[in-house]
Amino acid sequence: MDDITAPARILMGPGPSPVDPRVLRAMAEPLLGHLDPMFLRMMDEIQDLLRYVFETANRLTIPVSGTGSAGMEAALVNLLEPGDGAVICINGVFGERMFDIAGRAGAHPEAVRAEWGRPVDTNEIEDALKSHRPKLVAIVHAETSTGVLQNLDGLSALAHDNGAMLVVDAVTSLGGHPVSVDARGIDVCYSGTQKCLSCPPGLSPITFSERAVDTIRSRKSKVQSWYLDMNMVANYWGAERSYHHTAPISMNYALKEALRAVREEGLEARWRRHESNHRAFVSGIEAMGLEMFVAAENRLWSLNAVRVPDGVDDQRVRSRLLERHNIEIGGGLGPLKGKIWRVGLMGAGSTRENVLLVLEALRESLQAQGLELPSGVAAAERAYES
Ligand code: PLP
Repeated sequence: MDDITAPARILMGPGPSPVDPRVLRAMAEPLLGHLDPMFLRMMDEIQDLLRYVFETANRLTIPVSGTGSAGMEAALVNLLEPGDGAVICINGVFGERMFDIAGRAGAHPEAVRAEWGRPVDTNEIEDALKSHRPKLVAIVHAETSTGVLQNLDGLSALAHDNGAMLVVDAVTSLGGHPVSVDARGIDVCYSGTQKCLSCPPGLSPITFSERAVDTIRSRKSKVQSWYLDMNMVANYWGAERSYHHTAPISMNYALKEALRAVREEGLEARWRRHESNHRAFVSGIEAMGLEMFVAAENRLWSLNAVRVPDGVDDQRVRSRLLERHNIEIGGGLGPLKGKIWRVGLMGAGSTRENVLLVLEALRESLQAQGLELPSGVAAAERAYES
């Protein structure tokens, strides 16, 4: 079989996002052993950089070996024991996944649901906390399946006052939106490398508060997953450095480089960049006569959901974008299949150039289906000036 040479796509879907060449170059560095003193020093640097992006002083802050779902699983299976209660907020695909994982860990998950495209109601979370007295409440900060940003303010106080811990999925927000783990009192927060951190998929940054660490240490039963058992994994990332599993060396090189890039840019500047590109994109979309799926006050900057106009074939537009314009965007999942496009403006992909490019490419692809729309470029450019 011929070797596959991957074309340099413009990745503007729900992830992976574009990766800076310096990150890819880091992956081609010679391998070190996973207990080599140089690699151990690199692990320390990665942990420090992760504390910076999570905005936390938590000691147990590491990249889990595996994609974002591994972080989700690590958060839930370490905190939950068979029979424990868990309140899981569900307004899209990833809340559903958390609910499934909590059940597989032997816990009794209770769902607090919101319509897809809307945030979860804090009053309903409070009611669920009061009636179920769970061990934790879990919520998705950035629901990639719908483009909804969940307001986290006040949630940890609500959880803690009711004897629960707060678990937050920040897979599509970390590095693109403020996550502020310590300021918001989050007990466990996990992310993925391939979204706003602009690193290939393969690691899942995660951080545990002291309360969460104490809970894991004092478990009565073993963690359901051997691979993700933080009691053991923490011994490799902590002072003991004892072997647990072979760290994915090259992925850690990549993460270190991607995190250095975040620190060089500065978190605040990175958030502002994500915000301004999002605003310009929305201005352009609306000037074209298209509609955003999520209400203005609940929109993510990193993932922009656009309604597919009536009569337009979603798949044909996406195929044309890919084949003619070399741009990947995402389609809707589950009940939103065929109804929305998901345009990622994440990490290195969140640029003025990409915003203008995708607006024009979308217009051309709709034109090919007989839908004539005005250009959104001038409105997007004006948004940058304002
Ligand atoms: N949580 C959210 C909000 C996500 O967007 C994703 C992936 O898109 C995941 C969890 C799972 O991450 P992964 O696909 O890297 O396993």
